[in-house]
Amino acid sequence: MNFPQISAALLAALAVAASPARAEDEAVAWRLFVADHTSPTITAIDLDQPEQRWTFDIAGPAKLYPSPTEALVIAVQSDHERVDFLRSGLTLDNHGDHADIDVADPATIGNISGPRPFHVVNHSGDIAIAFDKGGYASILGEAAILEGKLEEQQFPMNVAHHGFVASMGDYFVSSIASEDPVAEGKAPPRVGLGSFSADGARIGDMQVCTDLHGEAFSGSFLLAGCKEGIAALDTRGGADAFTMLAYPADLPDGHTGTLLGSPVMQMFLGNYGADSVVIVDPVAQPHFTRVELPFRRVDFILDPLKAQFAYILTEDGSLHRLNMLSAEIEQTVQITQPYSIDGHWRDPRPRMTLADNRLILTDPLAETLRVIDTATLSEIEAIDVEGIPYNVIAVGGSGLTH
Ligand code: ZN
Ligand code: ZN
Repeated sequence: MNFPQISAALLAALAVAASPARAEDEAVAWRLFVADHTSPTITAIDLDQPEQRWTFDIAGPAKLYPSPTEALVIAVQSDHERVDFLRSGLTLDNHGDHADIDVADPATIGNISGPRPFHVVNHSGDIAIAFDKGGYASILGEAAILEGKLEEQQFPMNVAHHGFVASMGDYFVSSIASEDPVAEGKAPPRVGLGSFSADGARIGDMQVCTDLHGEAFSGSFLLAGCKEGIAALDTRGGADAFTMLAYPADLPDGHTGTLLGSPVMQMFLGNYGADSVVIVDPVAQPHFTRVELPFRRVDFILDPLKAQFAYILTEDGSLHRLNMLSAEIEQTVQITQPYSIDGHWRDPRPRMTLADNRLILTDPLAETLRVIDTATLSEIEAIDVEGIPYNVIAVGGSGLTH
């Protein structure tokens, strides 16, 4: 007797029973893409039918990004100089009054290669992949990739460095690194950011941003973390409308190097050092609200459905729900064994993604994916995965299949 199938069927029946208004042609589909920590594979798993799986061979361990329409999965293999593109198999088409969803098998599209691909920024329908040792970013249109056209437009960064490029439609924003000579094997330090035309000519002045790291969009703003504060571009003000949101004097020493932007309200969440986070409002005062964590942060994520919530996993293995409007940690639940952030930055540690009301967290040392109810932070189920599941993304949503 196959118990997992029975429970999946039962769950599906319960899900239908719980939403009596659902039309016959309405479908909810969520698919997980999981990259292994050491082996060069990506596994696709249907969240509501986890025995339905596909495995894709790539060149090395990957960091995964969904495209904005969720039709595409971008797999960046920094140590193997390759970026693979997969069709997620899910196509969501929003007509305004309703959305259509189409579900097909995931599939490989192809790959591009270049020297040390790293940060990926999705904006303006373009995917901008920075090649840290190439000194350029490859810009590809999402629609073109889905048609199988992997033609790269190369945007030249000022010098090769670990940075980012964002397509703004008619111009680009790029990190800027020092052009002074550096020791053999060293990357030049990042000193600022600016706007550029497609040929790399700067538009307006450079915004100083020492040690720039972490970038995110929300509302009309692009933010980037710096040593002296958070640099902000208000895109309504033009290509060079940069300002610096300086860290307030009453914050302890620290800075932001990772930023998340809400897709629903104009609000950002950043780390502030290792053991606190800052809620950042680029317009209203106070710009920074700091929330201390009981332990150092392993990963954090914003809830696109309930926009006031963020979920933070700390190294003691507990998951916290942060209400960003009240700056209160409302609930904390122990989910995994401790995962110390001492050691190498890329040691296997949990990563998180969201599928509506479900948070999915990789638990690499337990070789499992934990599915957590975001309302209660209780575990709904564990999905076993071979190997060391590491980076995870969820693509999906609901729509009509007519
Ligand atoms: Zn329709
Ligand atoms: Zn980085």
